[in-house]
Amino acid sequence: MTMAPTTEEAGFRPASRIASVGVSKILQIGARAAAMKRDGLPVIVLGAGEPDFDTPDNVKEAAKAAIDRGETKYTALDGTPALKTAVCEKFRRENGIDYALDEVTVATGAKQILFNAFMATIDPGDEVIIPTPYWTSYSDIVEICGGVPVLIPCDAEAGFRLKADQLERAITPRTRWVLLNSPSNPSGAAYSEADYRPLLDVLLRHPHVWLMVDDMYEHIVYDGFRFVTPVAIEPRLKSRTLTINGVSKAYAMTGWRIGYAGGPKALIRAMAVIQSQATSCPSSVSQAASVEALNGPQDFLEERRESFRRRRDLVVSALNAIPGITCRVPEGAFYTFAGCGGVIGKTTPKGRRIEADGDFTDYLLEEAHVAVVPGSAFGLSPFFRISYATSEAELKEALRRIAEACTRLS
Ligand code: PMP
Repeated sequence: MTMAPTTEEAGFRPASRIASVGVSKILQIGARAAAMKRDGLPVIVLGAGEPDFDTPDNVKEAAKAAIDRGETKYTALDGTPALKTAVCEKFRRENGIDYALDEVTVATGAKQILFNAFMATIDPGDEVIIPTPYWTSYSDIVEICGGVPVLIPCDAEAGFRLKADQLERAITPRTRWVLLNSPSNPSGAAYSEADYRPLLDVLLRHPHVWLMVDDMYEHIVYDGFRFVTPVAIEPRLKSRTLTINGVSKAYAMTGWRIGYAGGPKALIRAMAVIQSQATSCPSSVSQAASVEALNGPQDFLEERRESFRRRRDLVVSALNAIPGITCRVPEGAFYTFAGCGGVIGKTTPKGRRIEADGDFTDYLLEEAHVAVVPGSAFGLSPFFRISYATSEAELKEALRRIAEACTRLS
């Protein structure tokens, strides 16, 4: 019996649009960690970008009720009227922005919102300004759509935030979008109104540049930080801003795949054209669940926020106690992005020199059995990201191992 040819033998040739887009480093590390776990090694994974909490019961019940009512068919293309209404109310209630029903869209995760938006607007060579460190999908999606990511380094000293003069210098006639994410994955840094204001003033002077804001971590902010979204600060930008959000992080609903956005009607319509040929509509059951997430009780958010804050404090202080590691206190999300410049140039007990942050995170995985993601995966080195969406006991053990591994470097 002959074996079927592998794709390589069959002469598989990927399209040029994905030539420069590799498999996500985060997924690669996750796969390696999972393989080590299968081999019986006690690996602690601090790589995943999802809350360890469960989806709230009222949300699950709403999904079950939707199934029982027979809401198991295709829905309206970019969101059921019930969910769009809940999204409009959410924007009004929590952000002070008035979007009409035809100015909001719902997709299969915020990731598909980004994909729809770039697919619908980017022509070959169009530029998208992305401050680094950035969530890796941003640049990958821009590239798949034929655009050029313009990456602007924003270091820890700048609070990982883009400054107005950097933005001004980066804008060219080809700039289509500026993409801002607050609180940020991976840095946890967030923009206050005062941080945003000078950036919005720059944008007011450049009417051809549109603003995309990713507010996914809106509800995960600490120490009284006041979350604010750009359109609420500067309504004159509403006609060229896409305000992105979703239920994945706030409501621990990553697997339900629902994201949404508000923006000008013409853009929302263009995004629906892409969606109509990609997925037809988001999942009917997940949309019903998301209506309940947005309209239902919100008090559990405060409890979860407090639990995340305790973990953040634990991780930040443990990291800062390790010689060679420095970590600023993030305003939000559930990540720390610590500098590891102090371990670069050191040698592991096995005689390997740590040349870059990826060598350091490899060392932590192999010797300390802790999986974290190098800054290089997010466009800024030498750093590493910890996702602290896991139990305090696990975090303590992971930090103990990281500290111990660092003392073994010479
Ligand atoms: N934006 C940011 C900053 C994220 O971290 C993520 C998830 N990792 C998303 C968007 C996408 O979320 P989803 O597709 O689950 O809605």
